[in-house]
Amino acid sequence: VRRAGALIAGGGPAGSAAAVALARAGASPELIERSAGPRDVVCGGFLGWDALAALRRVGLDPAALGARPIVRLRLISGERAIEAPLPKPAAGLSRRALDEALLAAAAAEGARVGRGRALRAAEGRRLRLDDGEELEADALFLATGKHELRGLARPLDGRSEEPAAGLRAALPATPAVEAALAGFIELHLFDEGYAGLLLQEDGAANLCLSVSRRRLAAAGGPAALIGEISREAPRLADRIGAAVPETWEAVAGVPYGWRATETAPGLFRIGDQAAVIASLAGDGIAIALASGLAAAEAYRDGGPGAAEAWQRRFAGRAARPLAVAERLRRAAQRSGPRGALMRLLGALPMLVPLAARLTRIGG
Ligand SMILES: Cc1cc2nc3c(=O)[nH]c(=O)nc-3n(C[C@H](O)[C@H](O)[C@H](O)COP(=O)(O)OP(=O)(O)OC[C@H]3O[C@@H](n4cnc5c(N)ncnc54)[C@H](O)[C@@H]3O)c2cc1C
Repeated sequence: VRRAGALIAGGGPAGSAAAVALARAGASPELIERSAGPRDVVCGGFLGWDALAALRRVGLDPAALGARPIVRLRLISGERAIEAPLPKPAAGLSRRALDEALLAAAAAEGARVGRGRALRAAEGRRLRLDDGEELEADALFLATGKHELRGLARPLDGRSEEPAAGLRAALPATPAVEAALAGFIELHLFDEGYAGLLLQEDGAANLCLSVSRRRLAAAGGPAALIGEISREAPRLADRIGAAVPETWEAVAGVPYGWRATETAPGLFRIGDQAAVIASLAGDGIAIALASGLAAAEAYRDGGPGAAEAWQRRFAGRAARPLAVAERLRRAAQRSGPRGALMRLLGALPMLVPLAARLTRIGG
């Protein structure tokens, strides 16, 4: 069994941000990431202003990565659309580009980044890798995001609602799509889910859906679901046109609203392993970055013994954004409350930037 100091499981935004901050603190972190190279993941690619600020702290310039500016939200239900400004500039960037840049930043700060290797299981801070190696970590930063690590899976039993499914595909950014989406994040609401659309840096539009597993299964798959939604969401059908994607990234179990309120000594749960905000709020990446940076600081100041108090503090910090986002998600996914929400926001569009502010981890 090899001894590791600060070990990071997973190299999404949370794991990479922690790696950068731990390396800067002289903790010589080691990060293990399953993917061997660039890949697309299920995510809308929306970076709020809090995520942009956190990226700058990490040393990345989102504009230099090609992030497309976003300054307005278009919320669409049926034939009705509401447009409102965001409180501060945001951006659209593919996770393929973002995650690679973050992993490169971690390596550049001196973190040891092991790619193409997966953790199989954990017993406390003792870990087994798929190639058979065993590691004993002084501190474990659990950043496996949407995926569970056997032995340390999020305790999700007893939730009243089953987790949602997430889907993502690229759409060609035709001139019409480019014109409609320039400067905008669009959210298309429908029963039991929503679709998010934005332009990303690579000349494509990112189409991301969150939908109940029940509805996805009843439709019979992503393409059939798109057909169904098109009747409920004609403006989304316009954007997609005949280009219904054939290839989708998918994730089966997203437990919106879940937070880690406790942990074990030496175990820092970060990113989606700390708190899962309803994705329509577009703040998951910011939470991942903020938790990775803050957990690394807690470790720098207090060592592995700082984990439990830090986890409670972070759960407190995430409470309001998660609660507000859950209210909005629940209202948006049923036709009656959705109609009331659209009428309210139509009459008082200044509530849109207020809701955007209240669902940020970073102000
Ligand atoms: C449908 C949908 C749309 C979303 N849209 C947005 C959005 O537009 N904006 C936003 O801010 N947030 C959005 N989110 C939320 C956002 O995607 C997450 O909050 C964010 O990715 C969490 O980052 P993370 O680093 O915790 O985990 P992840 O991004 O899930 O990264 C985890 C990493 O760990 C690796 N890994 C997992 N298991 C292992 C293992 N056993 N061994 C080694 N490596 C492993 C994975 O390969 C991955 O790279 C969305 C979520 C969903 C479901």
